[in-house]
Amino acid sequence: LVEDKSHEAEAVGSTRSNTHFEFINESIRDFSDEKQRQQFKKSITSIKIQNTKHIDTQDLDSYITRAKKAQQHWQATAVYQRSAALLRAADNITTHRDAIAGVIIREAGKTWREADAEVCEAIDFLRYYARCAIELSIPEILNDYPGEFNEHWIEPRGIVAVIAPWNFPLAIPLGMTVAALATGNAVILKPAEQTPYIAKMLVEKLHQSGIPKDILHLAPGLGETIGAQLVSDSRISTIAFTGSRQVGLNIIKTAYDTKPDQHFIKRVICEMGGKNAIIVDDSADLDQAIVGVRDSAFGFAGQKCSACSRCIVLESIHDSFVDRLVAATKTLEVGDPINPGTDIGPLIDQEAEHKAQCYINIGHAEGHCALAMSSPLSAEPHANRPFVGPHIFTGIQQHHSLANDEIFAPVLAVIKAKTFDEAIHIANATDYKLTGGVYTRKPSHLTKAKREFNVGNLYLNRNITGALVARQPFGGFGLSGIGEKAGGVHYLRQFTVPRVCSENTMRRG
Ligand code: NAD
Repeated sequence: LVEDKSHEAEAVGSTRSNTHFEFINESIRDFSDEKQRQQFKKSITSIKIQNTKHIDTQDLDSYITRAKKAQQHWQATAVYQRSAALLRAADNITTHRDAIAGVIIREAGKTWREADAEVCEAIDFLRYYARCAIELSIPEILNDYPGEFNEHWIEPRGIVAVIAPWNFPLAIPLGMTVAALATGNAVILKPAEQTPYIAKMLVEKLHQSGIPKDILHLAPGLGETIGAQLVSDSRISTIAFTGSRQVGLNIIKTAYDTKPDQHFIKRVICEMGGKNAIIVDDSADLDQAIVGVRDSAFGFAGQKCSACSRCIVLESIHDSFVDRLVAATKTLEVGDPINPGTDIGPLIDQEAEHKAQCYINIGHAEGHCALAMSSPLSAEPHANRPFVGPHIFTGIQQHHSLANDEIFAPVLAVIKAKTFDEAIHIANATDYKLTGGVYTRKPSHLTKAKREFNVGNLYLNRNITGALVARQPFGGFGLSGIGEKAGGVHYLRQFTVPRVCSENTMRRG
């Protein structure tokens, strides 16, 4: 057994520190000031989401041709200048923080707090990746051996296709795009069909901040046409994808089947779904656990890859836990996200509602419905988006669909376990390996969870859906994804080619 040394590491100060970096994510608004609320509401109400025209296959071909021509020049631009443009974009987005949050509220249906948090995450990505790119650009020199000079450096991979989901319509496409740009690549960004307007704003902000137009192209269109064309174009060296498992696996297969251009085998960075569990044991602080499970399961109506969709509770506390979870969930307000008091807004579209309703029907057959909240009649329809209130099903077992499929809606399966060991076993019984959480006061359970709960991001005694740039780099493994964690020090390397030159210095003239 490996001894847990993390507390000792903290004590001797060997843990990595980001304290010298100022993260805006620390300052998400609480909107408690009435004057500020009124102003913000007025500005959201006045936002008009314009239609964004889809491009066609010829447009995309010409974008790739132009990006290919421009990329060499961008690669030759000093990294300080590239990073300076990203820092200007961070300032630009900070200045327009409320307006951009307003567009997220209108186009994606996020609540005020969720939208503001996303804008903050985007700003942090820009500042952090701008700094990482400079650090990475410094060649590493290894000349410890007499007569030998070794130099390690990186170069960009060329043209990167960024294929993005709708559920973090700003921060996710921005994170992938900025990592590629910072390391000297050109980018073709294909936003999700549901949220092209936010992507358009993002690209405009980056162009205004000094990213050349031919280095960054917006390619709105359908996944099966524009997305597929990007994946199979031999001039694209790298695909950075975030989205569903089904589409991700399909992209990996197609990309590796594509005949490579002169010097590239495509690289695919894939961040996919989750079927995330939180374990609550009989020593847990239940007040904290209930709020943590509730907010992780129902924040943004469960439409987060990191959301809790399975709650595994020890038998001895199961019934009282469920009663209290139901009571706490009933206090949430489902409704129009334009209102500041709304906790849960609509689902993204009719297809998402249909899928949610199918699983709600399955839940009634597989288990017992402990809570079925609907949206209050007073809720205004939000851009014709459908509302599905929180649902909690108990009596769900490991083999049920509710315990296995990513539903991406406010539907929570509660599963009983006899022991903590069994709870870990159930939590691990999924192909997805994204996030997980544990509420316990027992040190032995904390240690066991750290070693045996197989997820990319494990949260102990805290909400499982908060990924913070640099502090909590984010990403899963298994069928949740391949690649380095977003917002981490190694993320940018994926957009580069490593080079090493070793010289025999005895032969220098
Ligand atoms: P999706 O897979 O349906 O679409 C994602 C993107 O892929 C869209 O831009 C879409 O147009 C494009 N696409 C669709 N078919 C394509 C094809 N054949 N070729 C190329 N591109 C194609 O996902 P979604 O519904 O937009 O997002 C929700 C999913 O994303 C959930 O599964 C969620 O868990 C996942 N997600 C994961 C993370 C993470 O960090 N792991 C973060 C956010 C969302």
